[in-house]
Amino acid sequence: MGTASLSILGPSKPTSAAAEDEDPSNPSTALLSNVESSTPPQNPTTTILFVTLIIITCLSLLASGVFAFLFFSSSSSSKSSQVLHNNTESTARPLTKLEHPVVLLISTDGFRFGYQFKTPTPNIGRLIANGTEAETGLIPVFPTLTFPNHYSIATGLYPASHGIVNNHFIEPSTGDVFYMKRHEPKWWLGEPLWETVVNHGLKAATYFWPGSEVHKGLWDCPVNYCKVFNDSVSFEERVDSVLKFFDLPSSEIPDFMTLYFEDPDTQGHKVGADDPRITEAVAHIDKMIGRLIEGLEKRGVFEDVTILLLGDHGMVGTCDGKLIFLDDLAPWINIPKDWVQSYTPLLSIWPPAGVSPSDVVAKMTEGLNSGKVENGMNLKVFLKEDLPQRLHYVGSDRISPIIGLIEEGFKVKQKRSKGKECGGAHGYDNAFFSMRSIFIGHGPQFARGRKVPSFENIQIYNLVTSILKIQGASNNGTVSFPNSILLPPP
Ligand SMILES: [Zn+2]
Repeated sequence: MGTASLSILGPSKPTSAAAEDEDPSNPSTALLSNVESSTPPQNPTTTILFVTLIIITCLSLLASGVFAFLFFSSSSSSKSSQVLHNNTESTARPLTKLEHPVVLLISTDGFRFGYQFKTPTPNIGRLIANGTEAETGLIPVFPTLTFPNHYSIATGLYPASHGIVNNHFIEPSTGDVFYMKRHEPKWWLGEPLWETVVNHGLKAATYFWPGSEVHKGLWDCPVNYCKVFNDSVSFEERVDSVLKFFDLPSSEIPDFMTLYFEDPDTQGHKVGADDPRITEAVAHIDKMIGRLIEGLEKRGVFEDVTILLLGDHGMVGTCDGKLIFLDDLAPWINIPKDWVQSYTPLLSIWPPAGVSPSDVVAKMTEGLNSGKVENGMNLKVFLKEDLPQRLHYVGSDRISPIIGLIEEGFKVKQKRSKGKECGGAHGYDNAFFSMRSIFIGHGPQFARGRKVPSFENIQIYNLVTSILKIQGASNNGTVSFPNSILLPPP
């Protein structure tokens, strides 16, 4: 069913594999191909001159290489900030200062995979060089929205299982409405990491994370250890507050901490993924990582702390009139506003009792495929049970009976308006490469300079419980995953 629906979405739909083929060209490869193609047949004199030139070039490159090696190797002996490539390390490094493992889980919202190349990011680069990176990014869960994804990272569960199926939805049994500030435990199913950690008698501290304010198990969002989201707190203050935990006696330092930045998602929604304002936001996030590293180094614990730096989803531009209007389907079926729980990029339709969802899907599909609805081919509607299995978006009553998958960068609206249409969005099919974010693991159990294949963010939960050596709750992650990415104990 997965491949069938991929083909339904049309030949232009990039699967993750196709998108990877379009990876930005490797500069060294590009240079090599230029040399090859620019070597015309030569006469003997030209050949001698050419060969001499090549030899001179090689010698200068060799000399500069030796110089660079000597320079970097001498400075790295005095400073741990240099890139260390120790391919021979086969076991985890012992803690030198901390008495117990500490995991710091950092989310930079909407940090699309590839943003790290937009501008020099020396601090993120340092974590990558001395840690383990998902080489082609972290795969979000569907829908690629903030709340479903952050809570999947925290619980290891797909949204259908943890209950946060959208940023906004209705509980059908009660008619109660979920929105992002609802903190009653009834909405938030599963067992998030902070709850698992305190249930095991360890300490957790959250500096913002969707769901962290909710009281669950022994976790009651304690004052001083749990911050209620407030976007007016500067990023610097967030970093400094987390650092203060490392001033506590070692036994009192929380075993698990979260840190959250709402950028570069904020800018991405306003201007799309390609704009100088994104570059600035990325540079600012990198500065915050630098501030964190510096603070940890000052306290002598940087090498002991496990840092997991990731994002919840990517971002894609939504310009160029890529719009689909539900009112255009009127000749086939009328979809009134109050049937629609969310428009875009997750189209969620809940027809009233007495209206057959299959009938709605059939009529909408007929209209969209007719060629008479503008951009109609870029929206595919499904009964939720017919969605591709790889999306795992079935099995919860909170998911509406009809779900629309929208082509990358397109948006669905009720009717035409004169509003501004350019910006950025996420929430699309998680097979789109643009929806991927980053994953970097840095710490005693992560090999330096290692690249691992992309994986889904539901694997993070088991990774954290494994590093903390506690038994996690059952979840959708793979039990063996941590072994595939962590160095074994010494
Ligand atoms: Zn987000």
